[in-house]
Amino acid sequence: MARPIRARIDTAAFRHNYLLSKQHAPQSRAWCVVKANAYGHGLANCAEAVRDVVDGFALLDMAEAAWLRSEGFLQPVLLLEGGFDAAELHEAAKLNLAIVVHAMPQLDALEEAVLSQRLDVFLKINTGMNRLGFVPADVPKVLARLRACGNVRSLTLMTHFACADGLGIASQWACFTDCMAGSELPFSAANSAALLRFPETHGAWVRPGIMLYGGSPMPASQSAADLGVRPVMTLISELIGVQTLHAGEHVGYGATFTAEHEMRVGVVACGYADGYPRHAPTGTPILVDGVRTRTLGRVSMDMLAVDLTPVPNATIGSPVTLWGKGLPADEVATAAGTISYELFCALARRVLVTTTDNKNG
Ligand SMILES: *Cc1c(COP(=O)(O)O)cnc(C)c1O
Repeated sequence: MARPIRARIDTAAFRHNYLLSKQHAPQSRAWCVVKANAYGHGLANCAEAVRDVVDGFALLDMAEAAWLRSEGFLQPVLLLEGGFDAAELHEAAKLNLAIVVHAMPQLDALEEAVLSQRLDVFLKINTGMNRLGFVPADVPKVLARLRACGNVRSLTLMTHFACADGLGIASQWACFTDCMAGSELPFSAANSAALLRFPETHGAWVRPGIMLYGGSPMPASQSAADLGVRPVMTLISELIGVQTLHAGEHVGYGATFTAEHEMRVGVVACGYADGYPRHAPTGTPILVDGVRTRTLGRVSMDMLAVDLTPVPNATIGSPVTLWGKGLPADEVATAAGTISYELFCALARRVLVTTTDNKNG
């Protein structure tokens, strides 16, 4: 038998989450953010699941955009970081992609290019995140150049929030509304957290990402389940070994876990080379035979150890859930000092990805 680790992608849950995001922003169109191979879930799995309902896809890689077009997805597609060089502008025109313009070299290239057709342009404004975008003082002259540019079909103003899931958006929102004043242009600002928390930011296009994949974009007090967001990726494996530790014995590299009394320990076919976080400490939640228990000791490359005390009948071959249905990825992420985004995106290529379509939920 093959190594038993699998990532099951529930395509009906993905579709449900996309439609839920649209219910929260009924006046807007929703970019289905599928960058990074759909947050590790497989672009094909996710795009296919929403083919007949999706308003558009947002991503970064030209190859992923080209793949969508080759598979007959005719919806708008937005390159979230724009073209990385002049050649990509030509490619964008050929594939009819919308582009972000966030810095002077991109604006210069857009003005100089001779393109096969005009492009829909999203002008990215840096309202305080200080990653990408023009500073507010430059916006009037950039806007004037874009309005005069023959390669521009339409203009939308765009920004991205640093703290929509935490402290809030007040100063960035004030800055953005100042930049927009008098322009009468459509705008796009909301990621998942802002979409759910700050309806004033919805605008023409919202940009949900993590909520489509079953992660909660909200402060820790509000779980995905509270929001009606369903898990999409369930990472499963099996026990491939069982050991009995006596008091004072250890498990794993570094012998960081010590048994206080006799106990059974299961060894799971899942390690950091599968994408499981090596930093997950003893006590990270995990399901064995559907029963919640905890990891023990260090995560190895290909294996990790679990406490079988709450599951006395567990044995070699017993099913294990690392995260997903029955165990929110957000909980595992929190225990490991990270976020569900990172768990999903880190899923390794060697893990077989399969799809399920649980229409009943
Ligand atoms: C990734 C991304 C999003 C989606 O953010 P989530 O927090 O996953 O909802 C939205 N906008 C931009 C520009 C992004 O890069």
